[in-house]
Amino acid sequence: MATVATVDAERLDALRESFSGSLLSPGDDGYEEARRVHNGLVDRRPAVIARCLGAADIAAAVRFAREHDLDVCVRGGGHNVAGRAVVDGALMIDLSRMKGIHVDPAARTARAQGGVIWRELNREAAVHGLATTGGAISTTGIAGYTLGGGLGWLMAKHGLAADNLLGVELVTASGEVLDVREESHPDLFWALRGGGGNFGVAASFEYRLHPLVTVVGGLIAHPIEAGGAMLRFYRDALPDCPDDLNVFAGLVHAPDGSGMKLAAMVVCHTGTDEQAERDLAPFKEWGSPLVVEVGRMPYPEMNMLLDAGYPAGALNYWLSSFTAGLSDDLVDAIADRFATVPSPMSVILLEHFHGAVTRVGATDTAVPHREEGWNLLIPSEWLDPADTEANIRWTKETHAALAEHLVERRWLNYLGDDQDDAVRAAYGPNYERLARVKAAYDPDNVFRHNHNIVPAA
Ligand SMILES: Cc1cc2nc3c(=O)[nH]c(=O)nc-3n(C[C@H](O)[C@H](O)[C@H](O)COP(=O)(O)OP(=O)(O)OC[C@H]3O[C@@H](n4cnc5c(N)ncnc54)[C@H](O)[C@@H]3O)c2cc1C
Repeated sequence: MATVATVDAERLDALRESFSGSLLSPGDDGYEEARRVHNGLVDRRPAVIARCLGAADIAAAVRFAREHDLDVCVRGGGHNVAGRAVVDGALMIDLSRMKGIHVDPAARTARAQGGVIWRELNREAAVHGLATTGGAISTTGIAGYTLGGGLGWLMAKHGLAADNLLGVELVTASGEVLDVREESHPDLFWALRGGGGNFGVAASFEYRLHPLVTVVGGLIAHPIEAGGAMLRFYRDALPDCPDDLNVFAGLVHAPDGSGMKLAAMVVCHTGTDEQAERDLAPFKEWGSPLVVEVGRMPYPEMNMLLDAGYPAGALNYWLSSFTAGLSDDLVDAIADRFATVPSPMSVILLEHFHGAVTRVGATDTAVPHREEGWNLLIPSEWLDPADTEANIRWTKETHAALAEHLVERRWLNYLGDDQDDAVRAAYGPNYERLARVKAAYDPDNVFRHNHNIVPAA
């Protein structure tokens, strides 16, 4: 095993005196578990893991890292496929114990700490009949997800998570704690809505919530042989799609572990029974589906429908790009490539952008991806390390085979560890302004273990 960098015990004791959380070094109880993230391919060993309990702990950890010339990495929910929450030899600011959530039902807002995951925030908001846009599955952390824009089931109705952000309690590179809002720090607040973890450590987030108790949602699955026809139907059924309706579609594997290939649409409707009945009828009635499991359910349940397909510790390699429409040729190419997929856990997915998310200007927040259309995601997953090479190769070859139908734009939250060449395509026209904000708040690029924005000269 490679030598693991450590921090001198006496120096750590000095930090411990002013720290309310815990500090874990290699060999300590809990260290091995704490360095693990969702993607099982990520196997890195920080010199110290600072399990913070609040903004004061984060500030102390940032100052300590700078004084001792340690790299800093930040873990929110630990879900990012690139896995930069964990860096060899760094001081890892671990927010996984920061689970505080407070909902203000009268103001329809929620304040949640940086270690919260969507399942937890959904649950607290649902007690008051409220919700906001969160991830498509419930185990994703709110922190990295929101800072990266955050797309999900409610984005056509309520915009991205970043569009619902009202404020961020941010610990800066100098260890200052700022209450960042539109009114107080307009540039920094703009940058935090999509600029990733570049500007500091978000100790907590304040979100706008919306009245929402239940949705009509679920799965419609067809035999894989109908895949091409189903994706064409899906494309043709979506113009004039109401904001209440969100449909993602793709070629997938049956969730029962049988390895059976299916063509599937996942629907989520936020309107009344009558509206849902009317808007979903074409999707339910098309073709000869094998499964139509669509019904009314609490929103937090909708958010958990796909969780079982993404177990913690599975090995993940993802590629994605927005598409240039959904031509017959792209549909055929998707079907051809899916025929050779090596893992029974992998899918090729189309995420539809329309409604509220597309009514925000490309430069209004740091998220430039505001066009109607589709994001194509190839989230490859497998369990046996012996299959790693074949799965990564297939994912790259599939993305390359579809390239002529894709545009340059990339969804920041989906970028992997080897995709720094796509960072500009993720920030798009906002990169230069982000680089200026970066220079103002983190000129030394302390927060660089992310999809990095280099401070403007
Ligand atoms: C199964 C699965 C489903 C997903 N579904 C969606 C989806 O529906 N929509 C979507 O948009 N994305 C989705 N993602 C991607 C996800 O949003 C990103 O991976 C996001 O970074 C996860 O946030 P996290 O806090 O869990 O990640 P972490 O791995 O903890 O953090 C990722 C990065 O964000 C930064 N960061 C994290 N916390 C903080 C903080 N408090 N302050 C400052 N910087 C911080 C750091 O740079 C860190 O390296 C999904 C990912 C997975 C694995």
